[in-house]
Amino acid sequence: MTRYEPVIGLEVHAQLLTETKLFCGCSVAYGAEPNTQLCPTCLGLPGSVPRLNRRAVELAIRVGLALGCEIHRDTAFSRKHYFYPDLASNYQNSQFEPPVIGRGELCIEVDGVERRIGITRAHLEEDAAKNIHGAGGGLYTVVDYNRGGQPLLEIVSEPDLRSAEEAELYLRKLREILIFAGVNDGNLEEGSFRCDANVSIRPVGQEKFGTRVELKNINSFRFVRRAIEFEIARQEAVLASGGALVQETRTWNENVGQTISMREKESAQDYRYFESPELPRIEIDDEMIERARAQLPELPDAIRARFIEELGLTPYDAGVLTSHPGIARYFDAVASGMKADAKLGKRIANFIQSEVLRDTQIAGLDAKFPVTPEALIELLSMVEARTINLNLAKQVFHEMVASGKSAAAIVEEKGLGGGVDEAALEAEVLKVIEKNPSQVEQYRGGKAAVFGFFVGQVMRATRGQADPQLVQALLRKHLDG
Ligand code: ADP
Ligand code: MG
Ligand code: ZN
Repeated sequence: MTRYEPVIGLEVHAQLLTETKLFCGCSVAYGAEPNTQLCPTCLGLPGSVPRLNRRAVELAIRVGLALGCEIHRDTAFSRKHYFYPDLASNYQNSQFEPPVIGRGELCIEVDGVERRIGITRAHLEEDAAKNIHGAGGGLYTVVDYNRGGQPLLEIVSEPDLRSAEEAELYLRKLREILIFAGVNDGNLEEGSFRCDANVSIRPVGQEKFGTRVELKNINSFRFVRRAIEFEIARQEAVLASGGALVQETRTWNENVGQTISMREKESAQDYRYFESPELPRIEIDDEMIERARAQLPELPDAIRARFIEELGLTPYDAGVLTSHPGIARYFDAVASGMKADAKLGKRIANFIQSEVLRDTQIAGLDAKFPVTPEALIELLSMVEARTINLNLAKQVFHEMVASGKSAAAIVEEKGLGGGVDEAALEAEVLKVIEKNPSQVEQYRGGKAAVFGFFVGQVMRATRGQADPQLVQALLRKHLDG
């Protein structure tokens, strides 16, 4: 039996985070009443005059820099013609050759091995409107033109991916880079990050690619994986039964768990591309590139490396603390505010992971933290100065979240500060030993578990303020000695 190898290339449509559409001043805000954010230009009415939103070009350049791509200095928009109700003008202003962003690459890690996936190109284009099927009891499709004219960057990969898993890793990585670069909010469900997957198979060892199928409308990472896996199996079955594959567009139907044919695939000739006559060419000079470079934030791989090398984090911790740009910024603010080295960095990371993240709310690019970095710095500085121990710090933290008061105010109010000095603590230790002769006997008789009882008694006697490590050391000195 012939064995086949999958070949996959991905096209991602990422909505660029501008305030207004690509060629007019209409808002791009998500979730507005249908057909309230439009004008003659984004409806493509005859006689309207499009004007290019320069911000979209800046953000595209930023992506080019983030992916190490060539940036083409002189490009243009081209009309891509097709008829569909979501495109009132019957053409989309897109880019043909050359696109604004050329070749680059993106690294993914597959089972611990680095794989470099080629980026073919990235081009600017306007989004189409949104068809809402099934209105009027299933009789009609209504069109919401709010989305029409929103700025998209279509990022096209080389056919370098070899499995559904690799495709998912590539998508997650690309999404993360776009989010950290501040150009896209990565929302698959709302459609601001959309993926089409091109899938073909070829006999193992054959160089020539097989016929590809384009899968559309996949709006979650899980579906991407399932759709590609289904498609690979379907294509194998077609070839195994002696059939031939056709180049077509298929859609993933989650209800039946299958890809379903939509239409035969158009080729570039069918679109009759020609340069958009009413739009100026996109000219990019050094200054624009340097400005974009200055605005490109540190990217997640670099942040993780820095967290590991300079702030003492494990790769796992570094992953958690870069799971969102807001979380990375928060940790950075606390660590730099405390001038953390590797040891302190790790302690701060632990506290944030175990306490702060539990009460953190993430919504798109926003992250809402229970306390500010400054408030956390004040609290953790008290731990570092041994004013309070870590257990108390956790209690104080929850009190801070509940009451909004500062750490200092809570410590003061409850008389927690000052800790317990060693001489006073030793006196407490001796008192506890004296009061519990039978437990002392058990412990000295070999019942090691009783040690915890003594620690508990001393902590209680000091109202939790003692340093637990010192308590243990003193207990051992007097019990074992
Ligand atoms: P189109 O607009 O016709 O979809 P694009 O150039 O935008 O063409 O995208 C083509 C995508 O298909 C790229 O991601 C490319 O890597 C991928 N691709 C091309 N040939 C194959 C193939 N034989 N098998 C799988 N993917 C392919
Ligand atoms: Mg395509
Ligand atoms: Zn408009």
